[in-house]
Amino acid sequence: MLEIGGKRVQMAEQPADERRKNFRSVPLGYTVEEAMVEAQRCIQCEYAPCERHCPVRMKLKAIIRKIATGKFRDAFLIAKQDNPIPAIAGLVCPQEDQCEGVCPLACHGQGINIGKLEAFIAQWAMDNNVKEEFHIADKPARVAVIGSGPAGISCAVDLRRYGYGVTVFEALHMAGGVLQYGIPAFRLPKDIVDYEISYLEEIGAEVRLNHIVGQNITFEELRREYDAIFIGTGAGAPQFLGIEGERLKGVYSANEFLIRANLMKAYLFPEYDTPIICGDRVGVIGAGNVAMDVARCAVRLGAGEVFILYRRTRKESPAREEEVQHGLEEGIIFVELVSPVRVLGGDDGWVKAIELQRMRLGEPDKSGRPRPVKIEGSEFTMDLDTVVESLGTQPNRLFLDKLPQLDKTEWGTIKVDDTLRTNLDGIYAGGDAIRGNATVILALGDGRKAARSIHEFIAAKNK
Ligand SMILES: Cc1cc2nc3c(=O)[nH]c(=O)nc-3n(C[C@H](O)[C@H](O)[C@H](O)COP(=O)(O)OP(=O)(O)OC[C@H]3O[C@@H](n4cnc5c(N)ncnc54)[C@H](O)[C@@H]3O)c2cc1C
Ligand code: SF4
Repeated sequence: MLEIGGKRVQMAEQPADERRKNFRSVPLGYTVEEAMVEAQRCIQCEYAPCERHCPVRMKLKAIIRKIATGKFRDAFLIAKQDNPIPAIAGLVCPQEDQCEGVCPLACHGQGINIGKLEAFIAQWAMDNNVKEEFHIADKPARVAVIGSGPAGISCAVDLRRYGYGVTVFEALHMAGGVLQYGIPAFRLPKDIVDYEISYLEEIGAEVRLNHIVGQNITFEELRREYDAIFIGTGAGAPQFLGIEGERLKGVYSANEFLIRANLMKAYLFPEYDTPIICGDRVGVIGAGNVAMDVARCAVRLGAGEVFILYRRTRKESPAREEEVQHGLEEGIIFVELVSPVRVLGGDDGWVKAIELQRMRLGEPDKSGRPRPVKIEGSEFTMDLDTVVESLGTQPNRLFLDKLPQLDKTEWGTIKVDDTLRTNLDGIYAGGDAIRGNATVILALGDGRKAARSIHEFIAAKNK
């Protein structure tokens, strides 16, 4: 008999030795039986803390109950009510800090594997061609959505559900934002991203790829042609340290590295046109999720040794524990308590080493983490042939500079009120464009909230 709350059913994974050589998904998915057994462990808490810690308030308790009884179709349809892209959220959400982290079974390290169950039902629906049925009552008003990342997708889906005509403008040649170009396929398989995004067109939203608002089409044109606008342009502009040697060949921003590797499929070169030069000793500056993605891509691109160069210790790394663990299994080496001083090059203009300074941990800073403090005179060099800076990103100024009339915060993000309205009438914004680097689920939540506000705005205008 099943022990109530017993041990978590672990999901099978590709062995580390094998996955080091390919970009295929690391988790291999639950079987039907495994998913049911895992779901049956849920004690169906009266107040379901998992739901209260979900930024989009998914009805997790009901979803898990349906999975436990094999009613996968029902589980999928319930999930879709609150989350237009459950297959994606299930794979990349920081569940350990949200739903799974507050599950009462988590205190024994055996919280319900909610993310993987969500991914399971979405995959099951994909495999069995189960779709939502729509009854959209079309209205004449039209809304422009700028950006097709998770914020834009969820806003567009909800606007269609309200019945508005929706056009999504996307600068790149593929829709999906970071889901497409940033998060590597071994964490988020691209057939899943394509499938979830195809949903947009299925419900009648028009997606215009290769359309940079501010260049191919002006913002003023959109204002004239649409009743409201949602800005979901993300925060895709890289930040740099500003140290000597950054312009040497072999130094990348994380964005460039990941876009080449993922969006432009450099890992399939020459089958795809984009090359990527990833050397034998790669140093990644930073230790967040993005840095882990870069490091793990570098391993798969054939680097001999890949180092995470971090000014704190692994314990303070902001990356998801699961990703750090996967990276370590794949051979990534953490070099803790170091800060880059300069990048050193050879006569050929290529990187040959990095100078680092040793750090120690000081008093906690505003984030509550110990502040890294320099140890004077502790500089040393480390031979490297590739350096990737992964220091976070900021909103793209190419777009925002064209809108001086739009209020921004001191960090360069778009300023919004509680309803996600900007200072311009009928213009709303959400996702990383208002938060800086955040998460997929927060962007999804913003998209939904903005859609509701836009609906109220248009309804009030048409009264
Ligand atoms: C490498 C990486 C790994 C990450 N890993 C995780 C993770 O594991 N879990 C997690 O929850 N979050 C993760 N994140 C963060 C998460 O992906 C973002 O918070 C989320 O994608 C933000 O969504 P968004 O819709 O606001 O913006 P984005 O996903 O950035 O999408 C914005 C879109 O707008 C388009 N755009 C920009 N300007 C214009 C314009 N002028 N005209 C038309 N289109 C335009 C862009 O091309 C882009 O497609 C990661 C981020 C990165 C970079
Ligand atoms: S918190 Fe955990 S045990 Fe409680 S309902 Fe949610 S998943 Fe089930």
